[in-house]
Amino acid sequence: MGIVVQKYGGSSVADTEKLMAVARRVVKTAQQGHQVVVVVSAQGKTTDLLIEKARQISKHPPKRELDMLLATGEQASIALLAMAIDSLGQPVISLTGPQGGILTDTQHTKARIRMVDGARIKEELDRGQVVIVAGFQGLTPTNDIATLGRGGSDTTAVAVAAALDAEVCEIYTDVDGVYSADPRLVPEARKLVEVDYGEMLELASLGAMVLQPRAVEVAAVYGVTIHVRSSFSQDEGTRVREVDLMEREITVTGVASDENCAKVTLVGIPNDVNTLCHIFTSLAEVGINVDMIVQAAASKRTTDLSFTVTREDLEETLNTIAEIRSDQEWEVFADDDVVKVSIVGAGMMTNPGVAARMFQALTEADIPVFVVSTSEIKVSCLVPRARHVDAVQALHRKFELHAGK
Ligand code: ADP
Ligand code: ASP
Ligand code: MG
Repeated sequence: MGIVVQKYGGSSVADTEKLMAVARRVVKTAQQGHQVVVVVSAQGKTTDLLIEKARQISKHPPKRELDMLLATGEQASIALLAMAIDSLGQPVISLTGPQGGILTDTQHTKARIRMVDGARIKEELDRGQVVIVAGFQGLTPTNDIATLGRGGSDTTAVAVAAALDAEVCEIYTDVDGVYSADPRLVPEARKLVEVDYGEMLELASLGAMVLQPRAVEVAAVYGVTIHVRSSFSQDEGTRVREVDLMEREITVTGVASDENCAKVTLVGIPNDVNTLCHIFTSLAEVGINVDMIVQAAASKRTTDLSFTVTREDLEETLNTIAEIRSDQEWEVFADDDVVKVSIVGAGMMTNPGVAARMFQALTEADIPVFVVSTSEIKVSCLVPRARHVDAVQALHRKFELHAGK
């Protein structure tokens, strides 16, 4: 039997009881004859608490030091899980990201895995041990610890599974699969049996927290099947893999939403490409990612521009704009009371009228739309934060996603 990689998220190891339940599941898998690698997140809300502690000291802590701090969350959980598994009589060893050969670039707090050197993990597996690897962290070329961005343990698990050519990568979480919408927002959301990598990547990038987008990207590149399932039940979950979408009748597969958005509007900027170029180049130079963009000419000479950034980037965006604007006569408005709601589905490529139905649903629910963006397989609308849940539910109903139509 081959290698199985199992990843347990923060809520799955939140307290001693849950940690012991995870330990029993791991031991059972090992007893079935598999070699088991476990990737584990920090317990419960540990990462949030560590970020909060850092913020109490400094609004902008050095990112290297923030990574030093955040990595401790996972280091605690690997040790505790190893103790739990050991207490059940199963040989086990815990490894930090660096010990486990997780090698990253130097982008602190949002590092990317460059490669996984699986030699140490294999060696420990061949000694008959369960190997526990800390998620979310790795070693930079300068021998520093870097973290992979929120939700990064998913990516650790998939990268380890790819490097070891594992049979399967199981992502255990607090829901029993990927649903047609966040089941916390839409109680009638439907569990999907399988989701194609492309659709899953869109859903994850557009705010469906259940998998980190980068994990889906790595899985697609290396052909790793991800099985998303519940830590608290034995039910089959959702398989994320390449799915034949040729004959697909379903136009929309799911609804996702992202609360981490802020809208910036510039009124009365000169209506020329140079100005636009200057604005977006300046933002790019300070590492700000601009998401949705809409421009509408107010007259021949001036135009209005709205775009969205993440809420963390809002302050720096406004500072950057203030520098460019200097003594020019534009007005600048910022609004972080907004949410991006999106519909995703590969079937949109061949079925017209999907965007029209989306606007119909939002209009019927009396929800204003500020900015729209589209790609081949998604349509996103920026709506007021106060209407977040209404918007997601209205779209879920309109496309009859509970029924899988
Ligand atoms: P973990 O701590 O296990 O990594 P996360 O909190 O990161 O778990 O992700 C699981 C959460 O993702 C669920 O509790 C659920 O509320 C949320 N979620 C958002 N969209 C979806 C979706 N389409 N399907 C399933 N879960 C979703
Ligand atoms: N502990 C990290 C976080 O909360 C990584 C993870 O859970 O995947 O984002
Ligand atoms: Mg997660």
